[in-house]
Amino acid sequence: MSTLVPDRHTPSTPSAAIEVAALGKTYGEVPAVREISFDVRPGEVFGFLGPNGAGKSTTINMLCTLVTPTAGSARVDGFDVVRERDAVRRRIGLVFQDPTLDGYLTAEQNLRLHAELYGVPRELVEPRIGQVLDMVDLADRRTGKVMTFSGGMRRRLEIARGLLHSPRVLFLDEPTIGLDPQTRASIWRYIRALQQNEGTTIFMTTHYMDEAEFCDRIAIIDRGEIVVLDTPEALKAAIGADRVTLDTPDPDAAITALRERLGIDAELADGAVAFHIESGGSFVPRLFAELDVPITSIAVSRPSLDDVFLRHTGATMRDAETGGRAGEMRAMMRAMAGGRR
Ligand code: ADP
Repeated sequence: MSTLVPDRHTPSTPSAAIEVAALGKTYGEVPAVREISFDVRPGEVFGFLGPNGAGKSTTINMLCTLVTPTAGSARVDGFDVVRERDAVRRRIGLVFQDPTLDGYLTAEQNLRLHAELYGVPRELVEPRIGQVLDMVDLADRRTGKVMTFSGGMRRRLEIARGLLHSPRVLFLDEPTIGLDPQTRASIWRYIRALQQNEGTTIFMTTHYMDEAEFCDRIAIIDRGEIVVLDTPEALKAAIGADRVTLDTPDPDAAITALRERLGIDAELADGAVAFHIESGGSFVPRLFAELDVPITSIAVSRPSLDDVFLRHTGATMRDAETGGRAGEMRAMMRAMAGGRR
């Protein structure tokens, strides 16, 4: 019987867990992904961020062999996603947003089903089920029906299932979306333990800033192109300046006044006026003195990943998450202004 479980002794010892070379996908006339290139290192937690419609799903689907590229190539654990599709499929685990657990089955039955689907050798099924359930703290719920599980428990079980066949690369699409902060934190502990204990490479999308912060490196994709790729620290350091956010009853007037009186380019972010400036704290008095617009509050903060995201995509991570009105407005304005910024 051919087994779908990766042989850990295969001669392939790729220097990169994922290698993407000029990879592109065009749907008719629409370039969803424009010839992107990047590497993900073995054992890395790699975050893939971008506003709605940026090309995240298309990229992840090409890497998982679910969508065929129209340009370039990609290798996962050393195997080509087009020419060696089956080998890639054996080496990856998927935890996507749409829940696919069977609520009428127990946790264990769901895992067994998956083990069968992936041809996990019979003698390995039992120990491996125990191991992955332990990993996500669900050992005591092994015989519980999934329909009785909370959202966080289901998510953990999905992660356990994605790990069952010992994938070399785990793809997580918004792994903790909609979960409460405690559950999110515990899922993050599992993911980190997984990376440390099993050396699994993790490729994930997220709209949560704290989750992005947790990644070893982050790539931001916008309109089909990778606009920046680095560690969270380096990305924040590159922004440099402090972020000043001010609340005012008339944001448009404030933005105009900032530009005309102080030569500052500000934007509207989550209903507040935001801009970056060196030594933000000592700049605040000047704002009050020179801006003839009522200000209800001012906050000065060091750059965050949200600032990085805003700088590179023109949207806040929250806009991107909710596809909020602000994001839509910007997209519409960009479209009206004729394509690229
Ligand atoms: P994201 O996951 O970042 O929201 P997607 O990869 O889903 O972005 O989409 C990128 C672009 O490709 C969008 O403009 C989207 O409308 C387009 N697109 C995605 N899938 C298809 C498809 N099957 N057919 C046509 N256009 C598509």
